[in-house]
This record gives sequence, C-alpha cells and structure tokens, in this order.
Amino acid sequence: MRILLSNDDGILARGLGVLEKACESLGELTVVAPDREQSATSHSLTLHHPLRPVRLGERRWQVDGTPTDSVLLGVGVLMEEKPDFVISGINHGPNMGEDVLYSGTVAAAMEGLALGIPSIAVSFSGTVLRADALLDSQTELLARLLGHLTSLPSFPPDTLLNVNLPGIEASQIKGVKLTRLGRRVFSDSITRMKDPWGREIFWVGGGSVEWSGPADSDFATVKDGYISVTPLHLDLTHRDQLDASADWWREL
Ligand SMILES: [Mg+2]
Repeated sequence: MRILLSNDDGILARGLGVLEKACESLGELTVVAPDREQSATSHSLTLHHPLRPVRLGERRWQVDGTPTDSVLLGVGVLMEEKPDFVISGINHGPNMGEDVLYSGTVAAAMEGLALGIPSIAVSFSGTVLRADALLDSQTELLARLLGHLTSLPSFPPDTLLNVNLPGIEASQIKGVKLTRLGRRVFSDSITRMKDPWGREIFWVGGGSVEWSGPADSDFATVKDGYISVTPLHLDLTHRDQLDASADWWREL
C-alpha cells in the first residue's frame, strides 16, 4: 500500500512525525508537505508563482506552497504511482465543526478525495502545549485506528474521514465513535493592537470559543474521551432546501 502524507503545520511539525510513526507499518510512505506553517489556508492553491519542491530524502519533499499544492504535486508529479491513501496531519489543534472550512489539514484530505483517492485527516484536539507528550502516548492507538480504517472491506466512496484525537493520555481514551460536525462560535477573535510605530493593527485569532452540538457531535464525543471520526463529503448542496425551495420561481 502506498500512502501520501501531508499536513498544514509544515514539514518540521511534530504531529507529522508522529503520523509517520503511526503509519510506518501500513505500507510505503511518501511525505509531501509545506515548508512552513500553513494552518487556516483552507483549500487554497498557489497560482501566481511557480512551486519548487525540495527533495529532503527518499520519498520526502517540502513544497513552498499550501497543503493543497503539496497533495496536488505529490499525486501529480512527485510520486511514481498514485497513492492508495492520502493521510493528513496530525494537526496541532482540533478540526471540528466549522474548523473544517478553514483547515489546511482537512483541505489536504479534501484534495486527495478530489483526486479520487480515499483520504483521512487527523487532528489533535487538546491544547497545543501538551501535544508532544500526549501524541507520543497515542501513537500506538492511532496506528491501530489507521490500520483498521485503511483496511476496511470498502472505504466509503466520495468520503473523507475527519479524525479528532482527544487531548488526554491514550490509557484514558474510551474508544472510537462515528460523529457529525458540531457548531463552533468564536467571540472576541479580533484583537485591536498598536504596531511599534503606534499605528492601529488587528490580529485575528484567539478569543474565546464555545461549541454546541448533539451528543453524537464531534465536540461532545471528544469531550467525553472518545476519538471522533466524522465522514465528510465535498458536495455542500443543502439537499433538504432543494425540496423546500421547489416553488421559488413560480411567481417570476
Ligand atoms: Mg495546523
């Protein structure tokens, strides 16, 4: 089995190293990842300057672009054969609810899916400061989970799996649950500041975060101490609304 690994925290990120370790027994790994942090770049492509992949070792490349660029180049030109899976992560921070719309980690898996490859995104939902120690403790469990997901009799078509690991020791994790996306609400996420010359600037990020969602949502599941696996697809069509809006044009 050939697996393409990528991420949005950059090729030096600890989470990518843990993902490599968790996947090492699954097959032949190729790493193609951004050369720097690209968190919250979503599904952006670099169109206005060329990309120069740098080969760091056997089947290991850094790309001066986004996670989507990395998967596109990995599948399109850097790998000799198309991978059987694209796995992205481990993101340093959760990707639940609306996060999936901003996340470069999830976008890398989306790009894999758009290219017709079964894809998985993995994120660590605990605090970033404790990520190193906790990810070490969860490596073996993640290896078992990814081994299971990549050997399903039939990986669900047109689907990527969005995995969120709880921020606790592996020994405290109760199991794995299939979930749906919850809702995340940011407050005070724009901070007004002064630059060194006294000019007003704004820093987006931080603030307080609240979430809501049913018991089977990603947030509730991770909070309860389970690994959350949310099946996502790329079709954003609001299907119920198609029927509800069927008579919109009768009066035109
Ligand atoms: Mg990130």
